[in-house]
Amino acid sequence: MTAGPDYTPKTIFSLEERGRETPPFGLIAPARYVQGPGLLDELGHFLALVPSRRPAVLISAGGLRRHREQLLAGLGAMDSEPVFEIFEGQCCLSEIERAAASLRTRDVSFDSLIAVGGGKCLDAGKSVAARLEVPAVICPTIASTDAPCSALSVLYSDEGIVQGGEFFPDSPALVLVDSQLIAAAPVRYLVAGMGDALATRYEARTCTRNPAGRSVIGGRPTVAAQAIAEQCAQTVFDDGIAAAEAAFGGEVNAALERVIEANTLLSGIGFESGGVTGAHAVAGGFTHLPHVRARYLHGEMVAMGLLAQLALEQSEEECAQVAGFCAQIGLPTHLAQLSLELDRDGAALKEAMAAIAVSPLMDHEPLEVTPENTWAALLRADEIGRAATAAAGDSAYRRLHA
Ligand SMILES: [Zn+2]
Repeated sequence: MTAGPDYTPKTIFSLEERGRETPPFGLIAPARYVQGPGLLDELGHFLALVPSRRPAVLISAGGLRRHREQLLAGLGAMDSEPVFEIFEGQCCLSEIERAAASLRTRDVSFDSLIAVGGGKCLDAGKSVAARLEVPAVICPTIASTDAPCSALSVLYSDEGIVQGGEFFPDSPALVLVDSQLIAAAPVRYLVAGMGDALATRYEARTCTRNPAGRSVIGGRPTVAAQAIAEQCAQTVFDDGIAAAEAAFGGEVNAALERVIEANTLLSGIGFESGGVTGAHAVAGGFTHLPHVRARYLHGEMVAMGLLAQLALEQSEEECAQVAGFCAQIGLPTHLAQLSLELDRDGAALKEAMAAIAVSPLMDHEPLEVTPENTWAALLRADEIGRAATAAAGDSAYRRLHA
């Protein structure tokens, strides 16, 4: 495995300079995906799929407190005692280099790096695994983003602003999802993951329909990626409410299993091989506002970004339909639900939207995207979202933000 800051699949897929009109169709996916209740207790057993006998574990201090016994039991029959490296919280280059350097000083030669935690820890884990040249094993403890399955990490500045991405030649060797852990986590994470998952359908669709659209890896979206992205949002629409109810009770039921798969596997393949555009561009814009990035989860910002994307594409009926679902499940549907007030934050928000209007993500939109129409779309989405919330009520949102 060779990985470095210069690796990107985009230059491999994008063959325009080699005389092709369009790049080929392409799909990448994690090598193995396993999901079910109680699987963290059997982590060592499933590591045989990699195969790995001498793992290192990247996990936050809080995560280690909560899961230490389970991990020690699950990794009991390995060739070496598991080595834990504490993740300090930010998926930024300084933290990735620090964790990789620290693991290099240990006596054991690891044959896999297991990341256990939320999206940032998992992304950092992929980056650390690439530096150590070992397979990445991903164990999400929440289902809040589609980070687990992709061969890329979203990098943030030390302060938490999205800075770009790091791509790897290998997808995670194993994604192991313990659905009982997801059910036990705060429900807001699961619902945020549904926001990220919903956007997958509309972003992949835009990238597919536009002949100039590309997936994240730089290829044209395959039929498989389109179907996965479609099914991703459909699963959330069909099972989201029942899944959230199950999670409020800490129970795993069939609806929750399906939504966990949608948030994690379907959304992961769907975004990486289907494409990412307006919804994620606008979500990235929200991270420019410190009080928004401090208080809201990626998927919550993507949900609002999706409404703005649909308004930008003038798909008002769909925008209203998605907003109606978001209101029912408790995702933000309007700016005030991201603690944004136009009187106070208007200038900063407008500046952030002007910055993302010219981001490469917007190149996949089938129209010319400008600071003006991006701003107008956000205001229109806010209006549609407020109407949806007036109709559906905001009790689901308030329940998650109490
Ligand atoms: Zn996302």
